[in-house]
Amino acid sequence: MALRLYNTLSGKIEEFQTLQKNQVRMYACGPTVYDYGHIGNFRTFVAVDILHRFLEQSGYTVQHVMNITDVDDKIIRNSSREGVPVQTYTAKYEKAFLEDTLLLNIAQPKLARATEHIPEMAEFIAKLEAKGFVYRTEDGSYYFRIAKFPAYGKLSKKDFGGMQDGARVDVDEYEKDSARDFAVWKAPKPGEASWETSIGPGRPGWHIECSVMSMEELGETFDLHAGGEDLIFPHHENEIAQSEAYSGKPFARFWFHPRFLLVEGEKMSKSAGNFYTLRDLVLKGHKPSSIRYLLASVPYSTQLNFTFDGLKQAEVSVDRLRNFRLRLTSGQFPAGANPEMTKLAQETTDRMRAALEDDLNTPQAQAAIFDMARTANAAFDSGAVKQDDVPALLGALDKFNEIFAVLRDDDAPKIKSIAEWAKAEGRDISQELLGLLQSDALSDEQVNGKLAEMEAARKARNFPVSDAIRKELTAAGILVENTKDGVRWRRK
Ligand code: AMP
Ligand code: ZN
Repeated sequence: MALRLYNTLSGKIEEFQTLQKNQVRMYACGPTVYDYGHIGNFRTFVAVDILHRFLEQSGYTVQHVMNITDVDDKIIRNSSREGVPVQTYTAKYEKAFLEDTLLLNIAQPKLARATEHIPEMAEFIAKLEAKGFVYRTEDGSYYFRIAKFPAYGKLSKKDFGGMQDGARVDVDEYEKDSARDFAVWKAPKPGEASWETSIGPGRPGWHIECSVMSMEELGETFDLHAGGEDLIFPHHENEIAQSEAYSGKPFARFWFHPRFLLVEGEKMSKSAGNFYTLRDLVLKGHKPSSIRYLLASVPYSTQLNFTFDGLKQAEVSVDRLRNFRLRLTSGQFPAGANPEMTKLAQETTDRMRAALEDDLNTPQAQAAIFDMARTANAAFDSGAVKQDDVPALLGALDKFNEIFAVLRDDDAPKIKSIAEWAKAEGRDISQELLGLLQSDALSDEQVNGKLAEMEAARKARNFPVSDAIRKELTAAGILVENTKDGVRWRRK
């Protein structure tokens, strides 16, 4: 069996194949660092991360490059409004973006910054001009002549038959149906950032940066290119035109486009008031793990309707799996083995793999692990799980977590880091988060020490002391449970 993936370019689900055996070269369009990332952005980044993780689990080495768009129309507008240089403006949001990816356990790709590749972009444009695909206008801007590239429209499946040769557009993002020559290089304007280059002064268009950086890092033809569905046109269509005109070779072979996230059934927008950054949600007390789990709870190929009920449900799901894991790691089991359990673990692993190989059907993989937890929990209760079954069940959970990355109890320190940021920024934060900031995070040893004290107090029937310790632990985000096997704990 092998991964079957929908390829926007062919319009079909295809078996995923790479140019070089066991090696994937992939490029994902990264963020434009002009603001904090919203959960829609992270839906796309989590989907790409899941693809990356699954390819690794399938035995591929993955070379994954992502650009950081640190110069574009919006950045220039915002930085000049604030009266700060472009680099100062973008550094803050790039840092926030990278912190946010850590919150969501997104494995970090190799980063490529647009402003660090300007001379290469100028050279690339010069070659396109020499080949007749690009022309210079009087003001010193350069445009791509799409009439010279008959395959234009092959990704977005648009028919640009009636287009007008020479009609131009110079903004990075434009109407979905306009086939116009687009800017690859923009002449300097007063007050805007610009660079001196071999093709004159100015700054790159958004599309050229991805063509240049992806080919530089991954070669003229590589395996897979990703980005949210809004990038199909014009961004990716334009990347294909520039790159294939340049090299005369096919550009990316697979095009992977996660669909949009909607909020309560509507498009997320600032004006509708349903616009959430990842940080907004964390400050409302939602755990990064619940958010990541929710973002993966619908196949990437379907739009995801974000609701707060869904987010609560995701938290319950993650808790259930964490409790199940804890039961496996801290429980006491009778000696021996129950072949039913080994079989259950193997079937679950196979079901998860089959679901993910089926165009990354993440909810089916989640369902498989839940079925296992349900059956194994019932078996625990009847004493049917034996010592030798534990590694197999834990192994299936590990396979699940290699992809979904939600089972480590690391939410509390993450939430705390965002609360610290919010406080430094002078934002309002809830009483609960303020409490979290005041409580010193306890290390595992400290928690174990306090639990021992609590137990000793309880045995000495000194209940005021044992209750006080329990309260202190709860305030520090530690959940303590008494079970028939003794006391166990985990982080909230
Ligand atoms: P940007 O920072 O706007 O360049 O976007 C970064 C990534 O997020 C791109 O791949 C976009 O396609 C994607 N994106 C933007 N809005 C959404 C959304 N509502 N749902 C899913 N992905 C989105
Ligand atoms: Zn791009």
